[in-house]
Amino acid sequence: AAAAVGSSVIPIVNKLQDIFSQLGSGSTIDLPQVAVVGSQSSGKSSVLEALVGRDFLPRGSDICTRRPLVLQLVHQPRRPADAEADEWGEFLHLPGRRFYDFREIRREIQAETDREAGGNKGVSDKQIRLKIYSPNVLNITLVDLPGITKVPVGDQPTDIEARIRTMILSYIKHKTCIILAVSPANADLSNSDALQIARNADPDGSRTIGVITKLDIMDRGTDARNFLLGNVIPLRLGYVGVVNRSQQDIKSDLSIKEALAREESFFRTHPAYNNLAQYCGISQLAKKLNQILVQHIKTVLPGLKSRISSQLTATAKELSCYGDPVESKAGQGAKLLNILAKYCEAFSSMVEGKNEDISTI
Ligand code: GDP
Ligand code: MG
Repeated sequence: AAAAVGSSVIPIVNKLQDIFSQLGSGSTIDLPQVAVVGSQSSGKSSVLEALVGRDFLPRGSDICTRRPLVLQLVHQPRRPADAEADEWGEFLHLPGRRFYDFREIRREIQAETDREAGGNKGVSDKQIRLKIYSPNVLNITLVDLPGITKVPVGDQPTDIEARIRTMILSYIKHKTCIILAVSPANADLSNSDALQIARNADPDGSRTIGVITKLDIMDRGTDARNFLLGNVIPLRLGYVGVVNRSQQDIKSDLSIKEALAREESFFRTHPAYNNLAQYCGISQLAKKLNQILVQHIKTVLPGLKSRISSQLTATAKELSCYGDPVESKAGQGAKLLNILAKYCEAFSSMVEGKNEDISTI
């Protein structure tokens, strides 16, 4: 998965998490949630899928996402002997059943959507919860939300727009939620539902990233340069433009890998974007998310460090009562804590830019 969320921070954060989990205490790093918002068919599900690097979400020109999908990515070590069984999904409503085929995951999301929200375009705020276990992901939660729609269709109630807005706000109002505000480039961006609702929840724009989709199908002779540069609606965390798969690509089974390669060449060769590389592409979006995550970890690290050092002091004290046993439980605990303390140090200096490589410890 070329653009997997956190690809560059994964090894470091996961090493930290692994050591924390051995300690068995509550010392884990809680990463922020990431939610996608925007109008219907703006490309929200497509963006999430490209970030995860796997095909498994229902997408289409009609209303597809009709219930919130809480997608928990769970990192697990690679199993070289059994690469096939490395990655699977499990639904909360089907405990114990592992989905190795990601197309089946999509079918189950559709079936479970129908079970709760009916088969006729109904929308429900009852979550679908899916865990994806994989060696290629960071422990992070992504939320796919129904899009804002104005005219009720099928079984939708007359107040559908208000209901969906309330549902979206209930997720993005939390201060720890990173908002991906998705707007299609082939509609007027200054009318963007995504940016409007994001501003409601995050007025100073400190946790909103603007994502502009469909740059490939803009009106001929127009481009989104000014938007990407933040000249129209400034956002503190800025914008990223992307090109996802079209409905035709989905029909003809274009893979994510091929789509990412095509996106890369689109931006590289397009006269309006070829000098805006840092504003363009799913890989840049993943990079931006990484930076935010690293920043987040940097903020919570001092607290973790002090918890670790007081635990270390306590363990050392306990150890001294035993005299000199080599491999006692407490001895192992102290060793582990020492390693952990070193990691925290190294991580701090890495994010300060003093040390590029943490893997040597
Ligand atoms: P959502 O309703 O916001 O989740 O949107 P989807 O991800 O389901 O996408 C809606 C439709 O737009 C699908 O048919 C996608 O194939 C298409 N689409 C999404 N992003 C792009 C893009 O960047 N370019 C093109 N050409 N089509 C896109
Ligand atoms: Mg969707």
